[in-house]
Amino acid sequence: MDKRYFLKLISAAMSVPVLSPLLAWAAGDKLKNWAGNVVYGTDRLYAASSIEQAQDFVKKTAKFKVLGTRHCFNHIADSTDEFLSLRSMDKVLSLDSQGRTVTIPANMSYGQLAPYLHEHGFALHNLASLPHISVAGACATATHGSGEKNGNLATQVSALEMITASGDIVKLSRKQDGENFQAAVVGLGALGVVTKLTLDLQPTFLMKQYVYLDLPFSEMQQHFDAIEASGYSVSLFTDWQKKRINEVWIKTRMEPGQEFKATPEFFGAKLATRNFHPIAELSAENCTEQMGVPGPWYERLPHFKMGFTPSAGDELQAEFFVPRKNAVDAILAVEGLHDQVGPHLFITEIRTIAADDLWMSPCYHQDSVTIHFTLKPDWPAVSKLLPVIEKELAPFQARPHWGKLFTMDPERLKAGYTKLPEFIEVAKKYDPQGKFRNDFLNRNVFS
Ligand SMILES: Cc1cc2nc3c(=O)[nH]c(=O)nc-3n(C[C@H](O)[C@H](O)[C@H](O)COP(=O)(O)OP(=O)(O)OC[C@H]3O[C@@H](n4cnc5c(N)ncnc54)[C@H](O)[C@@H]3O)c2cc1C
Repeated sequence: MDKRYFLKLISAAMSVPVLSPLLAWAAGDKLKNWAGNVVYGTDRLYAASSIEQAQDFVKKTAKFKVLGTRHCFNHIADSTDEFLSLRSMDKVLSLDSQGRTVTIPANMSYGQLAPYLHEHGFALHNLASLPHISVAGACATATHGSGEKNGNLATQVSALEMITASGDIVKLSRKQDGENFQAAVVGLGALGVVTKLTLDLQPTFLMKQYVYLDLPFSEMQQHFDAIEASGYSVSLFTDWQKKRINEVWIKTRMEPGQEFKATPEFFGAKLATRNFHPIAELSAENCTEQMGVPGPWYERLPHFKMGFTPSAGDELQAEFFVPRKNAVDAILAVEGLHDQVGPHLFITEIRTIAADDLWMSPCYHQDSVTIHFTLKPDWPAVSKLLPVIEKELAPFQARPHWGKLFTMDPERLKAGYTKLPEFIEVAKKYDPQGKFRNDFLNRNVFS
């Protein structure tokens, strides 16, 4: 597909309000992921509308996967047996204003949760690039936003409830359950059916967003730390051409001492005078407001507006985490591949994430930088490109995103997770027969 045709497709898709994924599926299509690149191994899906129904399903079913909002690009959510959906449970369960926590049904989306929190005077510390993903699905795969002091979204979880393979309910909390909790939060869907999540909150806050254009790579190389420290959340978008970062998105909190002062120039980049899409040629109509217009946190932290999203995507995504200390070298290594990457790429995004203590998080005990690729939907070509990128990033201890595409050998992948043996032990405790495992997990985690 050429870029012009894709741009038309995506602009058309982006002006359509969100459709229920299951509705789209009921119209006769096969059950697929959001991107359409994974046709799931079964259409059998049971939608539970209560925890008791979900428990009953777990007791009766030998093997299945829970499906969230289907935004993973690989087979981590796939099943050849059955699916369980908890999406119809979507009302906040309780808000503890004093303790600053909210308890929610696990597969509620951030888009459903965020406006409620803001109305009640609260905020989450961060969000991903789009708000339509389910909280449980995001946490299971260590989904992240950006910001060098911001942990991934799973670090918001302070307690969870899940149904284990026997159908029993287990409650785990950060305060009381130490290691089991650290294993379960980024659980890769392998420990149980997460039914409730309690998330840490902070008082709601306002933000502004600025975009700068054409930051030379040489400036990025020399001033990476200062650039990343300039805002609460910073994203660098590049197409790897012309040795430049095409767009720098700086999201800043409107608080004394924290606010970014937008000057016309920023390390050689120019302040944009209109809103931009991360792919500059696309309309910014559905992007969150820029040019310093104040707005609530949930309308500035994601790149895309809540009300508009394609019901399906015509793109593939891959993303690699590298330790923060290797960031510039890793970025320059990928730059060396610009001729090979260019023809298959829509855009790359570079973000920072703070270290955490969740065993299967790619940021476990390690401040990290991610190099993300939004790629054209041509798997035969992408499947040849990814090993090239992975080889180039190997010296920098790169780990793939659990929900995106990769071709890395399982042995290399597993070597990146020091807590893997303990994780497998915890998984076996809650699921001795492998009820929640699928081919992806067997290959990449349990083999
Ligand atoms: C357009 C787009 C933008 C994205 N932006 C970002 C981004 O900014 N940052 C980022 O890090 N990632 C991003 N992602 C990736 C996305 O956040 C992850 O793939 C995430 O896992 C999607 O959640 P989901 O509910 O759609 O998961 P699904 O694909 O439905 O499921 C993911 C995994 O979670 C498990 N799971 C879901 N619910 C439960 C439950 N209740 N109990 C147990 N296991 C469960 C599933 O079994 C599966 O293993 C993006 C994806 C897309 C398509």
